[in-house]
Amino acid sequence: MAGNANQKTIERRGLMVVISSPSGAGKSTISRNLLETDRNLSLSVSVTTRAKRGSEIEGIHYHFKSQRDFELMRDGEALLEWAAVHGNYYGTPRAEVEKAMAEGRDMLFDIDWQGAQQLQDKMRGDVVSIFILPPSIAELRARLHRRAEDSEDVIATRLANAKAEIEHWHEYDYVVVNDDLERAFGAVKAIVEAERLRRDRRPGLFGFVSGLLGE
Ligand code: 5GP
Repeated sequence: MAGNANQKTIERRGLMVVISSPSGAGKSTISRNLLETDRNLSLSVSVTTRAKRGSEIEGIHYHFKSQRDFELMRDGEALLEWAAVHGNYYGTPRAEVEKAMAEGRDMLFDIDWQGAQQLQDKMRGDVVSIFILPPSIAELRARLHRRAEDSEDVIATRLANAKAEIEHWHEYDYVVVNDDLERAFGAVKAIVEAERLRRDRRPGLFGFVSGLLGE
């Protein structure tokens, strides 16, 4: 009992969980499930110049910006990473991430391979990256049509970009094939839980173990 109580006080560095996949591979659902079931994880809300979709809420899914405002943030070093994706700009606001990391809170990043690369370069030790693959391109196409929030043109562009995104699979720490949503979600959850236990993320362990050895 006393051991459990002690364990709660072990300090750990904040973890940056980066999830990428081509549109329609199930990344959004997996991310949402993760955020709903994991109180220690919060979403990094990106800024984007893309038009808001019907179901999206400003400040929850994205901070929707004009191109001019986005460029002001980018040029003012307010973005930790940024990229052009499907003809729009997307970026990760720096301030929230730095605050979370300093407080030892974990964050989830739903970003593309360009953003993942930048975060892995800048924050290497704090990042764990996961790539979600669809079981097939036919299934990916079907999912994009089922979602039906985008026009035919947008779906065609996203399918064309899917293979280019998939080519970056080998730049990630983990790869999960989403042929079954429950199983893929379970795999991602297990990755996050295991990464939290890594010895090199837990400087507080030194004191804890010293205490154990001194008892
Ligand atoms: P969507 O328009 O479907 O919401 O997102 C399109 C793509 O942009 C997705 O692959 C998503 O992960 C990526 N994305 C969203 N926010 C960011 C961001 O802040 N930075 C980068 N690099 N990519 C992002």
